[in-house]
Amino acid sequence: YSEEDSGDDYLFKIVLLGDSGVGKSNLLARFARNEFYSNSKSTIGVEFQTQKMEINGKEVKAQIWDTAGQERFRAVTSAYYRGAVGALVVYDISRRQTFDSVGRWLHELHITILVGNKKDLKDAREVSTAEGKSLAESETLFFTETSALDSSNVNAAFQTIVKEIYDILS
Ligand code: GDP
Ligand code: MG
Repeated sequence: YSEEDSGDDYLFKIVLLGDSGVGKSNLLARFARNEFYSNSKSTIGVEFQTQKMEINGKEVKAQIWDTAGQERFRAVTSAYYRGAVGALVVYDISRRQTFDSVGRWLHELHITILVGNKKDLKDAREVSTAEGKSLAESETLFFTETSALDSSNVNAAFQTIVKEIYDILS
């Protein structure tokens, strides 16, 4: 990459992965538009959203891809993954089943952050923070817990993955 460039060179494709209903679309809505949909359907799904970010004083564009509900049918295609350098693999801390299926979303080509979403649902928690951390360590993934509802750690999760990609590729 050339130092003189405006920063347009830095465009990273990042994919959102994880079972249906874990909050992928809402994490993206919160991050890109500061919006939340309490009753979201696949209709809010956009193909991807490009978000400008600043990393080490440079402008970086993260092109974040969301599924339009294909994950429900395990029908996420290779086109979805193609060219992606990073992934957020999301589970719902209040639904253990979504944590149990994390393995099938892991894709070794990606720099991945494991995201335990819906941390606001304290009384319904089925997966402890320690379990999430431990899985992330064993798979060498970054880890965080987020809430798209109350915004906690959402920006930080995207920032972490984009920063790591930047450090590796720049
Ligand atoms: P997706 O299928 O993974 O894209 O999940 P959605 O973003 O469509 O979210 C599924 C449901 O979970 C919706 O009813 C959301 O309002 C809800 N949801 C998403 N994120 C959170 C969160 O952080 N906390 C809570 N309490 N609900 C959430
Ligand atoms: Mg969705």
